[in-house]
Amino acid sequence: MDDNQASPSNRRQEGSHKEPRRDSGDSGGGGAHAKTPDEWKAILEPDRYEVCINHGTEPPFSGRYDRYSPDGGYMCACCRAELFSSDAKFDSGSGWPSFWRPASEGNIEYVQDTAYGMTRTEVNCSRCGAHLGHVFDDGPAPTNLRYCINSLSLIHESDCRDG
Ligand SMILES: [Zn+2]
Repeated sequence: MDDNQASPSNRRQEGSHKEPRRDSGDSGGGGAHAKTPDEWKAILEPDRYEVCINHGTEPPFSGRYDRYSPDGGYMCACCRAELFSSDAKFDSGSGWPSFWRPASEGNIEYVQDTAYGMTRTEVNCSRCGAHLGHVFDDGPAPTNLRYCINSLSLIHESDCRDG
């Protein structure tokens, strides 16, 4: 009568024998693009080095891409990250290639620059740290931004195909 079903509940302990997964970092992350100034010096032409690594500025109207209109993307001269596109290029009359927006916001790093007693926003390549130029808020619609970029910091895709 007594239907006492005593079923001992053997709780199965799910043994958590998870092996710690180690990410063997073979993914080739951004670290590979971070070079020391000496390493850059060995790679870059002197005038490129001066602008990109020493945060210099090329003379206005001197750069290859100031008056340059072929379609296509502009990459970082140092690491080839895509930075700007001809879609957003305009002639600002400043003597430097000007864009009203970057091609990829994620590849741009913004830094407050207080040199020369001015507060400006410096624009760098976020991938390798190369100096690109500055961004100002007197650009055309829709962003009203003017990315004032050194030609020496850029390489147009049509100039990239030589090997
Ligand atoms: Zn770069």
